Amino acid sequence: MVGIFGGTFNPIHLGHLRAAEEVMEKLGLEHMIFIPSARPPHKTHESEIIAPAADRLDWVQRAIASNHHFRVDAIEMERPGPSYLVDTLTTLLEKHSAQDLVFILGQDAFSEMGDWKAPEQLFSMANFAVLVRPPARAGTLEDWTPECVRSDFSFSDDGLSARHRTTERWIRRVSIEALEISSTRIRQRVSEGASLESWVPETIRTAIENSPVYSTPSHPHQPNRENPV
Ligand code: ATP
Ligand code: MG
Repeated sequence: MVGIFGGTFNPIHLGHLRAAEEVMEKLGLEHMIFIPSARPPHKTHESEIIAPAADRLDWVQRAIASNHHFRVDAIEMERPGPSYLVDTLTTLLEKHSAQDLVFILGQDAFSEMGDWKAPEQLFSMANFAVLVRPPARAGTLEDWTPECVRSDFSFSDDGLSARHRTTERWIRRVSIEALEISSTRIRQRVSEGASLESWVPETIRTAIENSPVYSTPSHPHQPNRENPV
């Protein structure tokens, strides 16, 4: 089985790497493919500065280079328009079978999947691993599953897994000992001129600390700032 770790990675940090490592171990995955989102459809907040796709991709590449189990795929950067998961999975399914693909995402993102493009289709295209970080959230996997797909699944009594009624795809809840790191905190730290030591891999630390995109605190949002990719 192959893990797919999607995210804005704005920027990638040690929390992502640690989570990827833990979930690989827990699900016995062969490798993990990091897929940075070129134009995230849901990250459109005025205040959120998004580094150019080429920089985010470069940081991911350098962050994972020493780990033989980690790969990066620029699939979403090679496609124009918003980065919808349904399009990415369609492309990945040309090379992999649906039963071999596990899409990894945090519980927060998972609960919002009802707002993503084509949720019913998404859940038949791959398996999903939902990362739960301490402190454990109230509720079961069933509670967090978007309402529009809930009836497509049968849920196990222990609240840890679900099976798609027609395709055999599954959803699993995976508890991890996450690090308290977010890209939001990192962008704040860069804007304050604080060090990123122990927040991001050393190989990319100074590149991110010196990133002109993050170092200007009140940079106005410019949707077209990204380089054409
Ligand atoms: P932001 O603060 O900008 O939202 P982020 O740190 O959440 O950034 P994303 O690129 O949005 O990073 O996250 C990609 C995926 O990684 C999401 O599924 C998210 O839940 C997960 N993730 C982010 N940070 C951690 C962490 N510290 N531990 C485990 N998973 C994480
Ligand atoms: Mg996030």
